[in-house]
Amino acid sequence: GTIAMWLDAAAVQAPDGPAIVVPWQDVRWTWGELRDRVEAVAKGLMALGLQTGDRVGICAPNCIEWVLVQLATARLGLVLVSINPAYRSHELGHALRLSGIRVLVTASRFKTTDYVGMLAELMPATAGSTPPPLFDMALPDLRHVIEIGGSPVAARIGFDAMVAAGHDMVLPPSPRDTNAPINIQFTSGTTGAPKGATLSHRNLLHNAVSAGAGMMLTDRDVLCIPVPLYHCFGMVLGVLVCLVTRATMVFPGPAFDPATVLGVVERERCTALHGVPTMFLAMLDHPDFARFDLSSLRTGIAAGAPCAPPMMRRMIADMHLGDITIGYGMTETSPLSTQTLATADIETRTETVGQMLPHFEGRVIDDAGAIVPLGDVGEYCSRGPGVMLGYWNQPDATAAAIRDGWMHSGDLATMDGDGRIRIVGRIKDMIIRGGENVYPAEVEGFLLTHPDIIDAAVFGIPDDRFGEQVCAWLQVRGNIDGEAVRDWCRGKIAHHKIPALIRIVDAFPMTVTGKIQKFVMRDVMVSPDL
Ligand code: ATP
Ligand code: MG
Repeated sequence: GTIAMWLDAAAVQAPDGPAIVVPWQDVRWTWGELRDRVEAVAKGLMALGLQTGDRVGICAPNCIEWVLVQLATARLGLVLVSINPAYRSHELGHALRLSGIRVLVTASRFKTTDYVGMLAELMPATAGSTPPPLFDMALPDLRHVIEIGGSPVAARIGFDAMVAAGHDMVLPPSPRDTNAPINIQFTSGTTGAPKGATLSHRNLLHNAVSAGAGMMLTDRDVLCIPVPLYHCFGMVLGVLVCLVTRATMVFPGPAFDPATVLGVVERERCTALHGVPTMFLAMLDHPDFARFDLSSLRTGIAAGAPCAPPMMRRMIADMHLGDITIGYGMTETSPLSTQTLATADIETRTETVGQMLPHFEGRVIDDAGAIVPLGDVGEYCSRGPGVMLGYWNQPDATAAAIRDGWMHSGDLATMDGDGRIRIVGRIKDMIIRGGENVYPAEVEGFLLTHPDIIDAAVFGIPDDRFGEQVCAWLQVRGNIDGEAVRDWCRGKIAHHKIPALIRIVDAFPMTVTGKIQKFVMRDVMVSPDL
Protein backbone atom coordinates (compact mmCIF):
# COMPACT_ATOMS: atom_id res chain seq x y z
CA GLY A 1 0.00 0.00 0.00
CA THR A 2 0.96 3.63 0.46
CA ILE A 3 1.59 5.52 3.67
CA ALA A 4 -1.72 7.39 3.36
CA MET A 5 -3.61 4.09 3.03
CA TRP A 6 -2.08 2.82 6.27
CA LEU A 7 -2.93 6.05 8.08
CA ASP A 8 -6.54 5.94 6.83
CA ALA A 9 -6.82 2.33 7.95
CA ALA A 10 -5.55 3.17 11.46
CA ALA A 11 -7.90 6.19 11.71
CA VAL A 12 -10.91 4.12 10.64
CA GLN A 13 -10.19 0.92 12.54
CA ALA A 14 -8.65 2.37 15.71
CA PRO A 15 -9.87 5.98 15.82
CA ASP A 16 -9.46 6.18 19.61
CA GLY A 17 -6.26 4.15 19.86
CA PRO A 18 -3.27 6.10 21.21
CA ALA A 19 -1.07 7.09 18.27
CA ILE A 20 1.49 9.65 19.32
CA VAL A 21 2.85 11.25 22.49
CA VAL A 22 5.25 14.21 22.54
CA PRO A 23 5.35 15.07 26.25
CA TRP A 24 7.37 18.28 25.94
CA GLN A 25 4.93 19.67 23.34
CA ASP A 26 1.84 18.51 25.27
CA VAL A 27 0.79 16.29 22.39
CA ARG A 28 -1.20 13.11 23.08
CA TRP A 29 -3.27 12.16 20.02
CA THR A 30 -5.27 9.19 18.86
CA TRP A 31 -5.02 7.75 15.33
CA GLY A 32 -8.19 9.64 14.40
CA GLU A 33 -6.73 12.93 15.66
CA LEU A 34 -3.39 12.30 14.00
CA ARG A 35 -5.03 11.64 10.63
CA ASP A 36 -7.11 14.83 10.93
CA ARG A 37 -4.03 16.94 11.70
CA VAL A 38 -2.08 15.32 8.88
CA GLU A 39 -4.89 16.20 6.45
CA ALA A 40 -4.93 19.79 7.73
CA VAL A 41 -1.18 20.09 7.14
CA ALA A 42 -1.56 18.48 3.71
CA LYS A 43 -4.15 21.11 2.79
CA GLY A 44 -1.77 23.83 3.96
CA LEU A 45 0.97 22.42 1.73
CA MET A 46 -1.50 22.21 -1.17
CA ALA A 47 -2.36 25.87 -0.72
CA LEU A 48 1.32 26.68 -1.34
CA GLY A 49 0.82 25.39 -4.88
CA LEU A 50 2.91 22.23 -4.61
CA GLN A 51 2.48 19.56 -7.31
CA THR A 52 2.95 15.78 -7.09
CA GLY A 53 6.67 14.98 -7.01
CA ASP A 54 7.73 18.43 -5.75
CA ARG A 55 10.36 18.41 -3.03
CA VAL A 56 9.64 19.66 0.47
CA GLY A 57 12.65 19.94 2.76
CA ILE A 58 12.57 19.71 6.52
CA CYS A 59 15.45 20.83 8.65
CA ALA A 60 14.36 20.45 12.26
CA PRO A 61 14.98 18.36 15.36
CA ASN A 62 12.40 15.74 16.45
CA CYS A 63 9.03 17.42 17.08
CA ILE A 64 5.35 16.82 16.29
CA GLU A 65 5.52 19.06 13.23
CA TRP A 66 8.20 16.80 11.75
CA VAL A 67 5.87 13.79 11.89
CA LEU A 68 2.97 15.84 10.49
CA VAL A 69 5.06 17.03 7.55
CA GLN A 70 6.33 13.47 6.93
CA LEU A 71 2.83 12.02 6.75
CA ALA A 72 1.30 15.03 4.96
CA THR A 73 3.89 14.99 2.15
CA ALA A 74 3.30 11.24 1.72
CA ARG A 75 -0.46 11.90 1.60
CA LEU A 76 0.03 14.35 -1.28
CA GLY A 77 2.66 12.40 -3.20
CA LEU A 78 5.32 15.02 -2.49
CA VAL A 79 8.96 14.08 -1.90
CA LEU A 80 10.18 14.84 1.61
CA VAL A 81 13.86 15.74 1.85
CA SER A 82 15.15 15.06 5.36
CA ILE A 83 17.91 17.47 6.28
CA ASN A 84 20.15 17.16 9.30
CA PRO A 85 19.62 20.25 11.50
CA ALA A 86 23.32 20.19 12.32
CA TYR A 87 24.02 21.26 8.73
CA ARG A 88 25.46 24.73 8.34
CA SER A 89 24.92 27.11 5.46
CA HIS A 90 27.28 25.40 3.01
CA GLU A 91 25.76 21.94 3.57
CA LEU A 92 22.20 23.28 3.70
CA GLY A 93 22.76 25.11 0.42
CA HIS A 94 24.08 21.90 -1.14
CA ALA A 95 21.04 19.91 0.00
CA LEU A 96 18.61 22.60 -1.19
CA ARG A 97 20.20 22.86 -4.61
CA LEU A 98 20.85 19.13 -5.14
CA SER A 99 17.22 18.20 -4.58
CA GLY A 100 15.56 21.37 -5.90
CA ILE A 101 13.55 22.04 -2.75
CA ARG A 102 10.47 24.25 -3.27
CA VAL A 103 9.31 24.54 0.31
CA LEU A 104 11.62 24.33 3.29
CA VAL A 105 10.32 23.76 6.82
CA THR A 106 12.73 24.96 9.52
CA ALA A 107 12.63 25.33 13.29
CA SER A 108 14.74 28.19 14.58
CA ARG A 109 12.91 28.16 17.90
CA PHE A 110 14.86 25.17 19.11
CA LYS A 111 17.85 27.46 19.27
CA THR A 112 20.10 24.58 18.29
CA THR A 113 20.63 26.35 15.00
CA ASP A 114 20.30 29.85 13.69
CA TYR A 115 18.42 28.92 10.53
CA VAL A 116 17.34 32.49 10.05
CA GLY A 117 20.95 33.61 9.89
CA MET A 118 21.92 30.66 7.75
CA LEU A 119 19.18 31.29 5.20
CA ALA A 120 20.02 34.97 5.17
CA GLU A 121 23.53 33.98 4.19
CA LEU A 122 22.18 31.83 1.37
CA MET A 123 19.50 34.27 0.33
CA PRO A 124 20.41 37.92 0.82
CA ALA A 125 17.03 39.51 1.62
CA THR A 126 15.67 42.35 -0.47
CA ALA A 127 13.24 43.63 2.11
CA GLY A 128 9.67 44.40 1.17
CA SER A 129 9.86 43.22 -2.41
CA THR A 130 7.00 41.24 -3.97
CA PRO A 131 7.03 38.44 -4.95
CA PRO A 132 8.82 37.32 -1.78
CA PRO A 133 12.57 37.90 -1.77
CA LEU A 134 13.36 34.19 -1.65
CA PHE A 135 13.67 33.88 -5.41
CA ASP A 136 17.34 34.39 -5.17
CA MET A 137 19.56 33.28 -8.04
CA ALA A 138 21.44 30.94 -5.71
CA LEU A 139 18.32 28.93 -4.86
CA PRO A 140 16.08 29.19 -7.93
CA ASP A 141 13.63 26.49 -6.84
CA LEU A 142 12.92 27.67 -3.32
CA ARG A 143 9.52 29.37 -2.99
CA HIS A 144 8.64 29.35 0.69
CA VAL A 145 10.22 28.87 4.08
CA ILE A 146 7.86 27.64 6.79
CA GLU A 147 8.93 28.36 10.34
CA ILE A 148 7.78 25.87 13.00
CA GLY A 149 6.20 27.64 15.94
CA GLY A 150 8.37 30.69 15.58
CA SER A 151 7.36 34.26 14.99
CA PRO A 152 7.24 34.58 11.23
CA VAL A 153 10.36 36.38 10.11
CA ALA A 154 10.27 38.41 6.91
CA ALA A 155 9.25 36.20 3.99
CA ARG A 156 8.74 33.20 6.23
CA ILE A 157 5.35 31.74 7.00
CA GLY A 158 4.57 30.42 10.47
CA PHE A 159 3.69 26.70 10.48
CA ASP A 160 0.25 27.29 12.01
CA ALA A 161 -0.45 30.09 9.53
CA MET A 162 0.44 27.75 6.67
CA VAL A 163 -2.02 25.17 8.00
CA ALA A 164 -4.74 27.78 8.53
CA ALA A 165 -4.35 29.05 4.96
CA GLY A 166 -5.22 25.59 3.62
CA HIS A 167 -8.51 25.43 5.46
CA ASP A 168 -10.72 25.49 2.36
CA MET A 169 -8.64 23.22 0.17
CA VAL A 170 -10.08 19.89 -0.95
CA LEU A 171 -7.61 17.02 -0.85
CA PRO A 172 -7.15 14.95 -4.01
CA PRO A 173 -7.51 11.15 -3.71
CA SER A 174 -4.51 9.58 -1.98
CA PRO A 175 -1.66 8.46 -4.23
CA ARG A 176 -1.76 4.81 -5.30
CA ASP A 177 1.67 4.38 -6.89
CA THR A 178 3.72 2.52 -4.30
CA ASN A 179 6.88 2.88 -6.39
CA ALA A 180 6.73 6.68 -6.51
CA PRO A 181 9.54 8.46 -4.64
CA ILE A 182 8.46 9.98 -1.32
CA ASN A 183 11.71 10.64 0.45
CA ILE A 184 15.23 11.81 -0.23
CA GLN A 185 17.34 10.73 2.68
CA PHE A 186 20.97 11.71 3.08
CA THR A 187 23.48 9.07 4.14
CA SER A 188 25.40 9.75 7.35
CA GLY A 189 28.62 10.92 5.78
CA THR A 190 30.81 8.41 7.57
CA THR A 191 33.04 7.84 4.59
CA GLY A 192 32.74 11.20 2.83
CA ALA A 193 30.12 13.63 1.56
CA PRO A 194 26.54 12.46 2.25
CA LYS A 195 24.59 11.13 -0.77
CA GLY A 196 20.82 11.58 -1.27
CA ALA A 197 19.08 8.19 -1.41
CA THR A 198 15.67 8.35 -3.11
CA LEU A 199 13.13 6.05 -1.45
CA SER A 200 9.59 4.97 -2.37
CA HIS A 201 6.47 4.10 -0.33
CA ARG A 202 7.22 0.45 -1.04
CA ASN A 203 10.86 0.77 0.09
CA LEU A 204 9.90 2.30 3.42
CA LEU A 205 6.78 0.27 4.15
CA HIS A 206 8.52 -3.02 3.42
CA ASN A 207 11.09 -2.12 6.05
CA ALA A 208 8.51 -0.93 8.55
CA VAL A 209 6.37 -4.05 8.27
CA SER A 210 9.39 -6.38 8.51
CA ALA A 211 11.04 -4.55 11.41
CA GLY A 212 7.75 -4.36 13.34
CA ALA A 213 7.24 -8.10 12.93
CA GLY A 214 10.87 -8.73 13.95
CA MET A 215 10.16 -7.00 17.28
CA MET A 216 6.71 -8.67 17.57
CA LEU A 217 5.21 -5.19 18.02
CA THR A 218 1.43 -4.79 18.39
CA ASP A 219 -1.04 -2.03 19.21
CA ARG A 220 -0.38 -2.67 22.90
CA ASP A 221 3.25 -1.58 22.55
CA VAL A 222 4.62 1.89 23.31
CA LEU A 223 7.79 2.74 21.40
CA CYS A 224 10.19 5.41 22.66
CA ILE A 225 12.01 7.11 19.75
CA PRO A 226 15.07 9.12 20.81
CA VAL A 227 16.81 8.62 17.44
CA PRO A 228 16.64 11.48 14.90
CA LEU A 229 13.70 11.69 12.52
CA TYR A 230 15.97 13.06 9.82
CA HIS A 231 17.44 9.59 9.34
CA CYS A 232 15.62 6.41 8.36
CA PHE A 233 16.02 5.07 11.88
CA GLY A 234 13.53 7.59 13.30
CA MET A 235 11.21 8.13 10.37
CA VAL A 236 10.93 4.51 9.20
CA LEU A 237 11.78 2.25 12.15
CA GLY A 238 10.06 4.73 14.48
CA VAL A 239 7.10 6.48 12.84
CA LEU A 240 6.25 3.99 10.09
CA VAL A 241 6.75 0.91 12.28
CA CYS A 242 4.16 2.39 14.66
CA LEU A 243 1.86 3.25 11.76
CA VAL A 244 1.80 -0.33 10.50
CA THR A 245 1.66 -2.04 13.92
CA ARG A 246 -0.47 0.68 15.60
CA ALA A 247 1.96 0.81 18.49
CA THR A 248 2.11 4.22 20.19
CA MET A 249 5.07 6.42 19.24
CA VAL A 250 6.67 8.53 21.96
CA PHE A 251 9.19 11.29 21.20
CA PRO A 252 11.10 12.14 24.38
CA GLY A 253 12.69 15.38 23.20
CA PRO A 254 14.20 17.47 20.42
CA ALA A 255 17.73 16.33 21.22
CA PHE A 256 19.01 13.16 22.86
CA ASP A 257 19.45 13.41 26.60
CA PRO A 258 19.92 10.10 28.47
CA ALA A 259 18.10 11.07 31.69
CA THR A 260 15.15 12.55 29.78
CA VAL A 261 14.76 9.37 27.75
CA LEU A 262 14.92 7.17 30.86
CA GLY A 263 12.33 9.38 32.58
CA VAL A 264 9.95 9.21 29.62
CA VAL A 265 10.32 5.41 29.39
CA GLU A 266 9.35 5.20 33.07
CA ARG A 267 6.42 7.64 32.93
CA GLU A 268 4.92 6.43 29.65
CA ARG A 269 5.55 2.75 30.53
CA CYS A 270 7.31 2.25 27.19
CA THR A 271 7.68 -1.34 26.05
CA ALA A 272 10.18 -0.66 23.28
CA LEU A 273 13.18 1.60 22.88
CA HIS A 274 15.34 2.37 19.85
CA GLY A 275 18.89 3.63 19.87
CA VAL A 276 22.33 3.61 18.33
CA PRO A 277 24.91 1.93 20.56
CA THR A 278 26.29 5.27 21.84
CA MET A 279 22.80 6.17 23.13
CA PHE A 280 22.33 2.90 25.00
CA LEU A 281 25.78 3.32 26.52
CA ALA A 282 25.02 6.89 27.62
CA MET A 283 21.84 5.65 29.35
CA LEU A 284 23.53 2.67 31.03
CA ASP A 285 26.39 4.84 32.27
CA HIS A 286 24.19 7.67 33.53
CA PRO A 287 24.82 8.28 37.27
CA ASP A 288 21.06 8.10 38.02
CA PHE A 289 20.45 5.02 35.89
CA ALA A 290 19.46 2.77 38.79
CA ARG A 291 16.79 5.23 39.94
CA PHE A 292 14.56 4.68 36.90
CA ASP A 293 11.93 1.95 36.74
CA LEU A 294 12.45 0.42 33.32
CA SER A 295 10.52 -2.78 33.99
CA SER A 296 7.99 -2.00 31.24
CA LEU A 297 10.66 -2.37 28.54
CA ARG A 298 10.88 -5.46 26.38
CA THR A 299 12.24 -4.82 22.89
CA GLY A 300 13.49 -2.26 20.40
CA ILE A 301 16.21 -1.93 17.78
CA ALA A 302 19.87 -1.25 18.34
CA ALA A 303 21.40 -0.40 14.98
CA GLY A 304 23.69 1.79 13.00
CA ALA A 305 27.00 0.62 14.41
CA PRO A 306 28.35 -2.55 16.02
CA CYS A 307 26.95 -3.37 19.46
CA ALA A 308 29.68 -4.69 21.80
CA PRO A 309 28.77 -7.95 23.65
CA PRO A 310 29.31 -6.53 27.18
CA MET A 311 26.89 -3.71 26.42
CA MET A 312 24.34 -6.12 24.95
CA ARG A 313 24.46 -8.14 28.18
CA ARG A 314 23.84 -4.98 30.26
CA MET A 315 20.95 -3.96 27.98
CA ILE A 316 19.30 -7.32 28.55
CA ALA A 317 20.03 -7.60 32.28
CA ASP A 318 19.71 -3.98 33.46
CA MET A 319 17.28 -2.45 30.95
CA HIS A 320 14.91 -5.42 30.67
CA LEU A 321 15.49 -5.48 26.90
CA GLY A 322 15.26 -9.27 26.69
CA ASP A 323 13.67 -9.06 23.22
CA ILE A 324 16.00 -6.37 21.82
CA THR A 325 16.79 -6.83 18.14
CA ILE A 326 19.93 -5.87 16.28
CA GLY A 327 19.51 -4.21 12.94
CA TYR A 328 22.03 -3.76 10.18
CA GLY A 329 21.46 -1.76 7.09
CA MET A 330 22.06 1.48 5.32
CA THR A 331 20.11 4.51 4.19
CA GLU A 332 20.14 3.03 0.69
CA THR A 333 18.15 -0.02 1.91
CA SER A 334 15.47 1.99 3.75
CA PRO A 335 17.34 1.20 6.14
CA LEU A 336 17.33 -2.42 7.40
CA SER A 337 18.80 -5.26 5.41
CA THR A 338 19.20 -7.79 8.22
CA GLN A 339 17.75 -8.07 11.70
CA THR A 340 18.00 -10.49 14.60
CA LEU A 341 14.54 -11.49 15.77
CA ALA A 342 13.14 -10.77 19.23
CA THR A 343 13.45 -14.49 19.93
CA ALA A 344 17.11 -14.81 18.84
CA ASP A 345 19.62 -16.47 21.15
CA ILE A 346 22.30 -14.39 22.82
CA GLU A 347 25.08 -15.58 20.52
CA THR A 348 23.13 -14.52 17.42
CA ARG A 349 22.53 -11.11 18.97
CA THR A 350 26.07 -10.43 20.08
CA GLU A 351 28.05 -12.04 17.27
CA THR A 352 25.89 -11.38 14.22
CA VAL A 353 23.45 -8.83 12.81
CA GLY A 354 20.90 -11.56 12.04
CA GLN A 355 19.40 -12.72 8.79
CA MET A 356 17.93 -10.98 5.75
CA LEU A 357 14.54 -9.33 6.14
CA PRO A 358 11.68 -11.19 4.43
CA HIS A 359 11.77 -10.74 0.62
CA PHE A 360 15.39 -9.62 0.84
CA GLU A 361 18.32 -11.51 -0.63
CA GLY A 362 21.87 -11.13 0.58
CA ARG A 363 25.21 -12.37 -0.66
CA VAL A 364 28.88 -11.93 0.06
CA ILE A 365 31.16 -11.46 -2.95
CA ASP A 366 34.84 -11.09 -3.77
CA ASP A 367 36.55 -8.37 -5.83
CA ALA A 368 35.61 -10.15 -9.06
CA GLY A 369 31.92 -10.31 -8.07
CA ALA A 370 31.90 -14.06 -7.34
CA ILE A 371 30.11 -15.37 -4.25
CA VAL A 372 32.68 -16.40 -1.63
CA PRO A 373 32.45 -19.67 0.35
CA LEU A 374 30.40 -19.55 3.58
CA GLY A 375 32.46 -18.02 6.37
CA ASP A 376 34.84 -16.13 4.07
CA VAL A 377 35.07 -12.33 4.12
CA GLY A 378 33.74 -10.31 1.20
CA GLU A 379 31.50 -7.41 0.33
CA TYR A 380 27.90 -7.72 1.52
CA CYS A 381 25.30 -7.00 -1.19
CA SER A 382 21.55 -7.06 -0.94
CA ARG A 383 18.60 -7.12 -3.30
CA GLY A 384 14.91 -6.69 -2.63
CA PRO A 385 12.04 -4.30 -1.93
CA GLY A 386 14.07 -2.03 0.37
CA VAL A 387 16.73 -1.10 -2.19
CA MET A 388 16.44 2.61 -3.03
CA LEU A 389 15.30 3.91 -6.41
CA GLY A 390 18.74 5.55 -6.75
CA TYR A 391 20.76 8.53 -5.58
CA TRP A 392 18.90 11.73 -6.43
CA ASN A 393 20.38 13.30 -9.58
CA GLN A 394 23.55 11.22 -9.32
CA PRO A 395 23.20 8.57 -12.06
CA ASP A 396 26.88 7.63 -12.00
CA ALA A 397 26.94 7.06 -8.25
CA THR A 398 23.72 5.06 -8.58
CA ALA A 399 25.12 2.86 -11.34
CA ALA A 400 28.22 2.19 -9.25
CA ALA A 401 26.20 1.29 -6.15
CA ILE A 402 23.36 -0.79 -7.67
CA ARG A 403 24.40 -3.42 -10.20
CA ASP A 404 21.76 -5.88 -11.51
CA GLY A 405 19.53 -4.84 -8.65
CA TRP A 406 22.20 -5.63 -6.05
CA MET A 407 23.04 -2.83 -3.67
CA HIS A 408 26.75 -2.91 -2.90
CA SER A 409 27.14 -2.00 0.74
CA GLY A 410 30.82 -1.20 0.97
CA ASP A 411 30.79 -3.34 4.12
CA LEU A 412 32.90 -6.44 4.66
CA ALA A 413 30.97 -9.36 6.08
CA THR A 414 30.74 -13.13 6.40
CA MET A 415 27.67 -15.34 6.10
CA ASP A 416 27.22 -18.59 8.00
CA GLY A 417 25.22 -21.71 7.13
CA ASP A 418 22.10 -20.24 8.73
CA GLY A 419 22.32 -17.08 6.62
CA ARG A 420 23.44 -15.02 9.60
CA ILE A 421 25.62 -12.05 8.70
CA ARG A 422 28.64 -10.86 10.64
CA ILE A 423 29.91 -7.37 9.86
CA VAL A 424 33.69 -7.23 9.85
CA GLY A 425 34.16 -3.57 8.90
CA ARG A 426 33.98 -1.23 5.96
CA ILE A 427 35.97 -1.88 2.78
CA LYS A 428 37.24 1.69 2.99
CA ASP A 429 38.52 1.01 6.50
CA MET A 430 40.29 -2.26 5.78
CA ILE A 431 44.02 -1.90 6.23
CA ILE A 432 46.43 -3.63 3.89
CA ARG A 433 49.77 -3.58 5.66
CA GLY A 434 52.60 -5.12 3.70
CA GLY A 435 50.15 -7.32 1.81
CA GLU A 436 48.37 -8.55 4.96
CA ASN A 437 44.71 -7.66 5.52
CA VAL A 438 44.05 -6.14 8.93
CA TYR A 439 40.41 -5.76 9.95
CA PRO A 440 39.98 -2.76 12.25
CA ALA A 441 37.04 -4.37 14.08
CA GLU A 442 39.23 -7.27 15.17
CA VAL A 443 42.00 -5.04 16.52
CA GLU A 444 39.44 -2.77 18.22
CA GLY A 445 37.79 -5.76 19.88
CA PHE A 446 41.15 -6.91 21.17
CA LEU A 447 42.16 -3.45 22.45
CA LEU A 448 38.87 -3.22 24.37
CA THR A 449 39.89 -6.23 26.45
CA HIS A 450 42.51 -3.95 28.10
CA PRO A 451 40.99 -2.84 31.44
CA ASP A 452 41.94 0.83 30.97
CA ILE A 453 40.83 1.23 27.37
CA ILE A 454 37.31 2.68 27.18
CA ASP A 455 36.99 2.94 23.42
CA ALA A 456 39.19 2.27 20.41
CA ALA A 457 39.14 3.30 16.76
CA VAL A 458 41.60 1.59 14.44
CA PHE A 459 42.32 2.73 10.88
CA GLY A 460 45.05 2.72 8.28
CA ILE A 461 47.31 5.55 7.25
CA PRO A 462 49.64 5.66 4.24
CA ASP A 463 53.12 4.32 4.91
CA ASP A 464 56.15 4.37 2.59
CA ARG A 465 57.46 1.00 3.68
CA PHE A 466 54.29 -1.08 4.20
CA GLY A 467 51.82 0.72 1.96
CA GLU A 468 49.63 1.23 5.01
CA GLN A 469 50.28 1.23 8.71
CA VAL A 470 47.90 0.49 11.59
CA CYS A 471 46.92 3.51 13.65
CA ALA A 472 44.69 3.63 16.75
CA TRP A 473 42.91 6.41 18.61
CA LEU A 474 42.06 5.42 22.16
CA GLN A 475 39.96 6.78 24.99
CA VAL A 476 41.47 5.56 28.25
CA ARG A 477 41.10 5.62 32.02
CA GLY A 478 44.04 6.92 34.07
CA ASN A 479 47.25 7.87 32.32
CA ILE A 480 48.46 4.91 30.31
CA ASP A 481 50.26 5.95 27.16
CA GLY A 482 50.58 4.53 23.68
CA GLU A 483 53.87 2.79 24.36
CA ALA A 484 52.39 0.93 27.35
CA VAL A 485 49.50 -0.24 25.18
CA ARG A 486 51.90 -1.45 22.49
CA ASP A 487 53.93 -3.36 25.09
CA TRP A 488 50.76 -4.98 26.35
CA CYS A 489 49.78 -6.04 22.80
CA ARG A 490 53.09 -7.80 22.15
CA GLY A 491 52.77 -11.54 22.26
CA LYS A 492 48.99 -11.34 22.34
CA ILE A 493 48.22 -10.42 18.73
CA ALA A 494 50.21 -10.78 15.52
CA HIS A 495 52.96 -8.22 15.15
CA HIS A 496 51.48 -6.70 11.98
CA LYS A 497 48.19 -5.93 13.75
CA ILE A 498 49.76 -3.98 16.62
CA PRO A 499 49.10 -0.27 16.02
CA ALA A 500 52.32 1.46 15.04
CA LEU A 501 50.84 4.80 16.00
CA ILE A 502 48.60 5.38 18.99
CA ARG A 503 46.97 8.63 19.98
CA ILE A 504 45.11 9.08 23.28
CA VAL A 505 42.07 11.35 22.85
CA ASP A 506 39.01 12.50 24.81
CA ALA A 507 36.52 11.90 22.00
CA PHE A 508 36.25 10.61 18.44
CA PRO A 509 34.80 12.59 15.54
CA MET A 510 31.27 11.20 15.17
CA THR A 511 28.30 11.54 12.84
CA VAL A 512 24.94 12.34 14.47
CA THR A 513 23.98 8.73 13.87
CA GLY A 514 26.71 7.66 16.27
CA LYS A 515 29.26 6.51 13.74
CA ILE A 516 32.95 7.14 14.07
CA GLN A 517 34.31 9.16 11.15
CA LYS A 518 37.60 7.46 10.48
CA PHE A 519 38.26 9.57 7.42
CA VAL A 520 38.44 12.60 9.70
CA MET A 521 40.95 10.90 12.00
CA ARG A 522 42.96 9.73 9.01
CA ASP A 523 43.11 13.31 7.72
CA VAL A 524 44.30 14.52 11.11
CA MET A 525 47.08 11.92 11.22
CA VAL A 526 48.18 12.58 7.66
CA SER A 527 48.22 16.38 8.00
CA PRO A 528 48.40 17.01 11.74
CA ASP A 529 48.03 20.78 11.36
CA LEU A 530 44.41 20.41 10.12
P1 ATP B 1 28.15 7.33 4.09
O1 ATP B 1 27.53 6.29 3.22
O2 ATP B 1 27.67 8.70 3.78
O3 ATP B 1 29.63 7.24 4.18
P2 ATP B 1 27.06 5.77 6.28
O4 ATP B 1 27.30 4.60 5.41
O5 ATP B 1 27.53 5.69 7.70
O6 ATP B 1 27.65 7.09 5.61
P3 ATP B 1 24.31 5.20 6.82
O7 ATP B 1 23.53 4.81 5.63
O8 ATP B 1 23.63 5.97 7.90
O9 ATP B 1 25.51 6.09 6.34
O10 ATP B 1 24.94 3.94 7.54
C1 ATP B 1 25.09 2.67 6.92
C2 ATP B 1 26.33 1.99 7.42
O11 ATP B 1 26.32 1.87 8.86
C3 ATP B 1 26.47 0.57 6.94
O12 ATP B 1 27.00 0.53 5.62
C4 ATP B 1 27.41 -0.04 7.99
O13 ATP B 1 28.77 0.26 7.71
C5 ATP B 1 27.03 0.68 9.27
N1 ATP B 1 26.12 -0.12 10.11
C6 ATP B 1 24.78 -0.02 10.18
N2 ATP B 1 24.27 -0.90 11.06
C7 ATP B 1 25.31 -1.59 11.58
C8 ATP B 1 25.45 -2.67 12.55
N3 ATP B 1 24.41 -3.16 13.19
N4 ATP B 1 26.69 -3.13 12.78
C9 ATP B 1 27.76 -2.62 12.14
N5 ATP B 1 27.70 -1.62 11.24
C10 ATP B 1 26.50 -1.11 10.96
MG1 MG C 1 27.16 4.30 3.36
